[in-house]
Amino acid sequence: MDFRKITLTEEEMPRQWYNILADIKMNPPLGPDGQPVSPDALSPVFPMNIIEQEVSTERWIDIPEEVLSVYSIWRPAPLVRARGLEKALDTPARIYFKNESLSPPGSHKPNTSVPQAYYNKAFGIERMTTETGAGQWGCALAFACAQFGIECKVFMVRVSFDQKPYRKSMMEVWGGKCVASPSLETRAGRAILEKDPDTPGSLGIAISEAIEAAVGDTSGKTRYSLGSVLNHVMLHQTIIGLEAKKQLEKVEEYPDVIIGCAGGGSNFAGLAFPFVYDKIHGRQIEIYPVEPAACPTLTKAPFVYDHGDTARYTPLLPMHSLGHAFVPPPVHAGGLRYHGMSPTVSQLVDEGLLSPKAVTQNEAMAAGILLARTEGIIPAPETSHALAQVVIEAKKAKEEGKEKVILFNWSGHGLLDLGSYDKYFAGELVDFELSDEAIAEAEAVYADFPKPQHLKSR
Ligand SMILES: *Cc1c(COP(=O)(O)O)cnc(C)c1O
Repeated sequence: MDFRKITLTEEEMPRQWYNILADIKMNPPLGPDGQPVSPDALSPVFPMNIIEQEVSTERWIDIPEEVLSVYSIWRPAPLVRARGLEKALDTPARIYFKNESLSPPGSHKPNTSVPQAYYNKAFGIERMTTETGAGQWGCALAFACAQFGIECKVFMVRVSFDQKPYRKSMMEVWGGKCVASPSLETRAGRAILEKDPDTPGSLGIAISEAIEAAVGDTSGKTRYSLGSVLNHVMLHQTIIGLEAKKQLEKVEEYPDVIIGCAGGGSNFAGLAFPFVYDKIHGRQIEIYPVEPAACPTLTKAPFVYDHGDTARYTPLLPMHSLGHAFVPPPVHAGGLRYHGMSPTVSQLVDEGLLSPKAVTQNEAMAAGILLARTEGIIPAPETSHALAQVVIEAKKAKEEGKEKVILFNWSGHGLLDLGSYDKYFAGELVDFELSDEAIAEAEAVYADFPKPQHLKSR
């Protein structure tokens, strides 16, 4: 019998996260004075226990018991052999994926929303604010806040708020509050609406609003939460790759190629970082973060210092960036429309340890439909960007006659993204290619900022 699912028991679930900061060199985040930011400067924004994790260089960090307990609602997540896809493509490659669509909100994001809500609660915080693109992160934080009895306020990028109304409904079921961004509730939001009342919004703008709403609460009981990009988020997501490693060991496999879609970089990093550790120590692996051609952060934008948000509330982060004022075209993979990228992922790209790829949304949707028909799960449009690259790699293995092992992350399901599928079937999805002039114009915003150094970790 060709079984497909490789499982772990609860006892085999990893008890520690892997912190890549123990193994790579990083440029520090910089404050408004151009000097490295002190952890204290971040304390109005995040609780101190999370700031400590953000800057920690300990290689292994214990997962709290309370977090493991909530994880066990859906974890350990299965590793699946994609036999249906292998057969459809007649490829000699053996293809495996982590199924992160099984969490209650339907994506990998609760791997970090749960510990973030836990640490905020432990620090005495009563209310959390955040932004959301497609709505996945807002749902993940609302779910986690419900688990720990915290209030949750979400600023949702306008275009997704209109495209995906049921995401707001889900947040409300879990007790969260959700408004479209830009909103009239913040200075940052009002300033944007004054200039451009019809703006589709952007993650950069929504982040500004959520930070302002947290810092502006004079009771001191509100903090902000970010669903991707930052070091502690990448840390929490490594549960994906650590589980995958154990599962592959059970079937005596090791990946030649690792693929994940990249918006802020967290689901990709979660799967890849435990294997990047091996690559730093000499192992041969091809590792591909995949992004939309319409928002080509890693493939087209340089490694610079830039703000994480449009109103420039965040420190300067060393990352690939299209510019903090960039408003990406309204593609359907809302979770991949971010101007920047995780500093750790950016650092690894700058060093040549990762090889980024870009695909169009029509290529992504076509691959998503093939995978839905062969593997059963209807993928989120974000996930489909990884799937397009998986199909390319599987076909390449066939041409070369190579028995490669391909590992990828199924970051979420698309059951609340069916409108995107309708548009695809109707032939209405437009592929946006940004001109080099448009990119250069967007990038002008950081021309005068300091430049990061090109560091080498191995
Ligand atoms: C948010 C999201 C992404 C993109 O975010 P990353 O931080 O890059 O992982 C990808 N897939 C799904 C399903 C998402 O919800």
